Amino acid sequence: MNPDLDTLHELFELANNIGGDLSLVQASGGNVSIKADDTLVVKASGYRLEDCGRIEGYVALRIEQGRTLLAKEPAAPIDEAIVWCGREGSRPSIETSFHLHVPGRVVAHVHSIGSIAVGLRRDCAELLSSISLGADVLLVKYAQPGTDLTAGLLEAGVRSLTGSTVIVLRNHGLLVWAESASECVRLISEFESKVRTLMQPDRAIRDAIEKFLQGVTKNRFKMDFILDPLWLDFLSSHILVPDQAVFLESVNISQSINEIGEERSINPVTNTYNFVPSLTNSQREVLAMLIALGGFLRTVDCTQTIDVGQALRLTKLESEQYRKSIAK
Ligand SMILES: [Zn+2]
Repeated sequence: MNPDLDTLHELFELANNIGGDLSLVQASGGNVSIKADDTLVVKASGYRLEDCGRIEGYVALRIEQGRTLLAKEPAAPIDEAIVWCGREGSRPSIETSFHLHVPGRVVAHVHSIGSIAVGLRRDCAELLSSISLGADVLLVKYAQPGTDLTAGLLEAGVRSLTGSTVIVLRNHGLLVWAESASECVRLISEFESKVRTLMQPDRAIRDAIEKFLQGVTKNRFKMDFILDPLWLDFLSSHILVPDQAVFLESVNISQSINEIGEERSINPVTNTYNFVPSLTNSQREVLAMLIALGGFLRTVDCTQTIDVGQALRLTKLESEQYRKSIAK
């Protein structure tokens, strides 16, 4: 059955609520879905969440048929299960497979800075155990986005988590589900606020990180927060999240930022920087998120990185090339 208008509006509002915040989603990352009877409405691949306040940004699929098709052949296109596309030719999000399988009515996935930072830390499990949200909180190890990630979630027993649920996907982001979109928004914002405060108790630094992220679409930005001087070098030699591999594959990170004026001195910072002009907005956003992570953790806290072979497989995926090709 097709979802009614109220259901669709609930989904649009969820996308509007989280889509414009660069500390939650960057480029075409992140996705949302809602289930109504046997139908899943999920964000279309390559769309920015902030542009998903209307039907064009979505694709609807038959849930059981989608699950069966993906179980037979994980890389199979699931076109046969599509009921409608908001825009002709759209494809469902690359992460549709977990939306089909997790039990929540409303599901939201973001690449939020707090969830990525905590998932990179050695003491991640300990930090998460001190956070109470009135929801199940789970930590799941890294797996390649798509059916590998879904398999990892099913292995972790997520099918039985039918109430409000928060999952930290290591080296990737946050996944939440609940009965309503407003509960998903509450879970994301409370989780982020608590985990960011835990990792960076200094309010002024947290505000500076926010301000930095808001300024990244402009070419010139200030980095008014304390950054581990080794952080940019660390980013240049390690892959931390899938979107780093997908969007910054050919970008030399340490050469993507130019200082204006005086010599480089990152700490204490009152410096103004430039991105090199050749970067697209998507690349700037992903790069800025990676830089801002350094406000929450130091290189020595960091344990988890994605190995180069895995990252390379990711960039070769046709579905990722498609997503990147339609993002600006
Ligand atoms: Zn993701």
